Amino acid sequence: MLNLFNLDKRALEIFFIEHGEKKFRAQQVMKWIYHEGELDIDQWSNLSKVCREFLKRETTLALPSIITAQHSKDGTIKWMLQLPDTKGTQNAVEMVYIPENDRATLCISSQAGCALACPFCSTAHEGFNRNLTTGEIIGQVWLAIKELGWQKGGKRKVTNVVLMGMGEPLLNYTNVVPACNLMMDDLGFGLSKRRVTLSTSGVVPKIYDLKRDSDVSLAISLHAPTDELRNEIVPINQKYPIAELIKACKDFVEGRDQKKHITWEYVMLKDVNDSLEHAEALYHLVKGIPGKINLIPFNVFPGTSYKASHMKQVVRFQEYIANKGAVITVRKTRGDDIAAACGQLVGEVKDRSRRERILVRDQ
Ligand code: SAH
Repeated sequence: MLNLFNLDKRALEIFFIEHGEKKFRAQQVMKWIYHEGELDIDQWSNLSKVCREFLKRETTLALPSIITAQHSKDGTIKWMLQLPDTKGTQNAVEMVYIPENDRATLCISSQAGCALACPFCSTAHEGFNRNLTTGEIIGQVWLAIKELGWQKGGKRKVTNVVLMGMGEPLLNYTNVVPACNLMMDDLGFGLSKRRVTLSTSGVVPKIYDLKRDSDVSLAISLHAPTDELRNEIVPINQKYPIAELIKACKDFVEGRDQKKHITWEYVMLKDVNDSLEHAEALYHLVKGIPGKINLIPFNVFPGTSYKASHMKQVVRFQEYIANKGAVITVRKTRGDDIAAACGQLVGEVKDRSRRERILVRDQ
């Protein structure tokens, strides 16, 4: 059965037209699902009985279900989710809710596991199982809003969404783009383009596509200013080296109606990428491209041999670059008491990639 969560507005319109219904049914259905949070088709009172019966026969509204919810003392919540087609924790992904004073960010997953092998990220060590469907991606946002208490027409409990959970979103492009569009569509969750951010390790050709297909904001997991180092810590760099990545990012921000900027993510790994020489090189690399650098304190996880840079060094690195006039912030680590911080999301993934476990540096 067709999962209605898999369809963005355009796809839903086509679905209704193909079934001899009016196009505007798409709007009505989206309002019920994303504005009212109403999944009982019998309650969709502005649709004819015939149409409701047809939808009940032909479609489903399948969501991931919650396996566990962990609450951090700082207000962060981490949910482990079971995907609709699996049993138990065979294929579970994680999402994290991060409330702050002026906003509340939901960090969602795009794949069960990850096929990339960044050695400092715990998700990588899990291997890869499969891409999430559009419905499983937008379904995370729907579920979080429901769990937090749906406020019809009121202030939303999720103001920002980041695709910074498990997986590489640009390697699941065809499902991720419609999900992002549903987040930003006024008939969906109506989030502004600045408040939906996709983070990528640098799948260069897809960055060009993304400019064409979506209005999301872009974050780049840069983490190293030279190819030599980036080849090691973000191995996709061996395929798409820094110069190509920078070129794609320049293209992404150029010639758009609305101003775009790039967030450059840089995890601070002790004695690996955290010297002032690295800071100097990083500054020159991104200079001139509208954006900001976001330093991420390294979050340890079992089995890693990387160490977090001392906070003093993080601040030194930050000040060095700030003094040159670039915008540079340090990401607050949230939810580390429940392993909900960046790079700590593992879920439960049955690895199908059969990648050799050569990811940890000292193995
Ligand atoms: N695959 C995408 C989405 C993951 S986003 C990407 O690479 O961008 C998660 C962010 O946290 C990325 O910038 C990632 O590099 C970073 N990260 C991964 N492991 C981490 C760790 N152990 N400590 C801090 N940040 C980490």
